[in-house]
Amino acid sequence: MSHLADVDPELARIIECERLRQVNGLELIASENLVSRAVLEAMGSIMTNKYAEGYPGKRYYGGCEFHDEAENLARDRVKQLFGAEHANVQPHSGTQANMAVYFSVMECGVDRMMSMSLTQGGHLSHGSPVSFSGKMYEVHQYGVDLATETLDYGVIAEQAKKVKPKVIVCGASAYPREIDFKAFQEIADEVDAYCMADIAHIAGLCAAGIHPNPTGVVDFVTSTTHKTLRGPRGGFILCGADRAQSIDKAIFPGMQGGPLMHTIAAKAVCFKEALEPSYKTYARQVVKNAQAMAAVLDEAGLRLVSGGTDNHLILIDLSNRGITGLEAENALGKAGITVNKNTIPNENRSPFVTSGLRIGTPAVTSRGMKEEEMRVVGAWITRVLADITNEKVIREVGLEVLAMASQYPLHPA
Ligand SMILES: *Cc1c(COP(=O)(O)O)cnc(C)c1O
Repeated sequence: MSHLADVDPELARIIECERLRQVNGLELIASENLVSRAVLEAMGSIMTNKYAEGYPGKRYYGGCEFHDEAENLARDRVKQLFGAEHANVQPHSGTQANMAVYFSVMECGVDRMMSMSLTQGGHLSHGSPVSFSGKMYEVHQYGVDLATETLDYGVIAEQAKKVKPKVIVCGASAYPREIDFKAFQEIADEVDAYCMADIAHIAGLCAAGIHPNPTGVVDFVTSTTHKTLRGPRGGFILCGADRAQSIDKAIFPGMQGGPLMHTIAAKAVCFKEALEPSYKTYARQVVKNAQAMAAVLDEAGLRLVSGGTDNHLILIDLSNRGITGLEAENALGKAGITVNKNTIPNENRSPFVTSGLRIGTPAVTSRGMKEEEMRVVGAWITRVLADITNEKVIREVGLEVLAMASQYPLHPA
């Protein structure tokens, strides 16, 4: 990055500080990952120089022949990865992917949708009142069964019969268990609704066959590319050929102008990497690592929401520990362990404080860490949480975190 250092030393310094933060700490935020050098190169390339409004073969600007090739590569690869008939790889984010599906089938101010509530694991873009989705549509939300802390499909089906929504959204940001997409589509079919599966968090697990893949099962699949899938920040939509045109129109010209072609190039690289056999091994390890850490936390007496995990994330309920999610996040952060506070089912604190902590293994698994390391990290987390004001413990754990991190580069060979 020598050019950046010459032109803008101020920003170069900030990026170097962030690089050191990533190198020296342990990233356990469930929605984050570490991309490959190849993805970084595509993203930082001259592909950013071009306007390419429209789609391959139908652009509103000249000189798009190579951009057509790049976008076609990305589309073909993601279709192959998930087994989809149609793919749109232009959404700038997961939220915009969801917006496009809503715009393609729902009328603003008229239609109803059903989705999982934010406090129980859903996402802002699934109809939260502070999101466009909650302002534009009448939203009815479902949660988990408070005893099992898992989805109760019978209850959701009953609610759908009463609500008669136009769209039923499934998929979550903080749900540690498998989601039955087929059950959701059946519920939707019964009430003549569309079913949209938002796999932003678990896309990598679905691609690798470790979590059931909703593609071809539900009407629409939306996702981000930057979580378990380990690509650049962005989104995509998968659907049947019959809905291709309305989805494409909803993205452009519906809500976006020019696509981020450097990001689409990097998505193509990400999808190629995810098609490799080594990616399956990675995704399997992500889940093994989450389960190994969950076992250590559970043995130490921490209460895990739903009792454990089937995927890449763990949700800890701290309410019986006398500490908040915010306090836990801050104490672990001081020790170099980055996690995020999160609401839990039956939450009684604000989203800025919360009673829970969300932990995920995609990023540390990308650095090559395995079960043994997860058991050690789990023990450190337990130690810090046992006495969050103990600065000596935080310092000691911090040094151990640094020593472990130094053995796992961000880009393992
Ligand atoms: C992260 C996430 C998104 C949105 O992603 P952005 O790219 O941040 O807009 C959408 N849905 C779910 C379930 C998510 O977890």
